[in-house]
Amino acid sequence: MVTRSALLYLKKLTTRFVAGETIDEAIETIRDINGRGCTASFDHLNESVSSAGETEEEVREYLNILGKIDQTGIRSNVSIKLTQFGLEIDPELAYKNARKIVEDAARRGNFVRIDMESSQVTQLTIDIFKRLRSEFGLNDVGIVLQSYLRRTYDDAVDLLKIPARIRICKGAYNEPPTVAFPDKKDVDDNYVRVMKLLLKSGVYHGIATHDPKMIDATIDYMQKESIGKEAFEFQMLYGVRRDLQERLARDGYNMRVYVPYGKHWYPYFMRRLAERPANIWFIIKNLFKG
Ligand SMILES: Cc1cc2nc3c(=O)[nH]c(=O)nc-3n(C[C@H](O)[C@H](O)[C@H](O)COP(=O)(O)OP(=O)(O)OC[C@H]3O[C@@H](n4cnc5c(N)ncnc54)[C@H](O)[C@@H]3O)c2cc1C
Repeated sequence: MVTRSALLYLKKLTTRFVAGETIDEAIETIRDINGRGCTASFDHLNESVSSAGETEEEVREYLNILGKIDQTGIRSNVSIKLTQFGLEIDPELAYKNARKIVEDAARRGNFVRIDMESSQVTQLTIDIFKRLRSEFGLNDVGIVLQSYLRRTYDDAVDLLKIPARIRICKGAYNEPPTVAFPDKKDVDDNYVRVMKLLLKSGVYHGIATHDPKMIDATIDYMQKESIGKEAFEFQMLYGVRRDLQERLARDGYNMRVYVPYGKHWYPYFMRRLAERPANIWFIIKNLFKG
């Protein structure tokens, strides 16, 4: 039998990783994050978009967010997923939708980060990013690369030629060993290789991780190469390692917190649980206690 305490725990876990279901709740969260010396990035959760009409709603949501950032004065940019804008329906639709957001952000002096999703859409995502980047500036639109993918180092070299602002993360999807390194050590080694390439490039990038080893490697490298703290930002997820977020901000590093919100939180929440087996064991144990 599912216990009441387990259900309460589940709800508490959700609110730990997701900043509510509405824009206003996310804004309140971001005010608090800004108050702790960090910037933010909005992420409207909705990976279940299946029609062109629904993609229009996503565009409206993001235009609304960009307007509210200006009205409220919070310090935040936005992160988008191209599947939310129709990538799996028609890539041209996703491009047109994303273009509306980038155009509005550019007009407002804000910035759009295109998240990276599963390897089935890596190339399509890069292609659309390149198209947008050819129309807009370096500080209008950026992309994400995942160190678990075997192709990522080459993608980073290629994208830096444009140049492009890149967020490097380890990667959060289940990928086959043909495309992704199955061993954590290789993922971490690749992360450090790409991080060094990014930091040396002179472009402002995002180093997204909660892993103290990756953070230490970044700080060691920037100190060794005399790269300033203002040359890049660390990025972490809302609800994960808040202590570390605050410490890095206090130490003078640029620290951005990625803030997901929205009604369709389930797939995002499950990815966060999967990253921390202790959370899953707790749920299994408590869900089935008499
Ligand atoms: C700002 C940001 C944006 C991201 N954007 C993308 C994206 O566009 N595409 C994509 O595929 N992935 C994205 N990710 C997710 C990323 O790929 C990883 O899945 C996630 O960050 C975990 O990897 P890690 O670098 O923190 O290292 P890990 O080796 O997974 O974790 C290192 C340590 O961090 C802590 N930790 C990590 N995750 C959790 C958690 N969920 N709960 C509690 N503690 C945790 C633990 O102490 C763990 O030991 C993003 C991550 C961040 C921070």
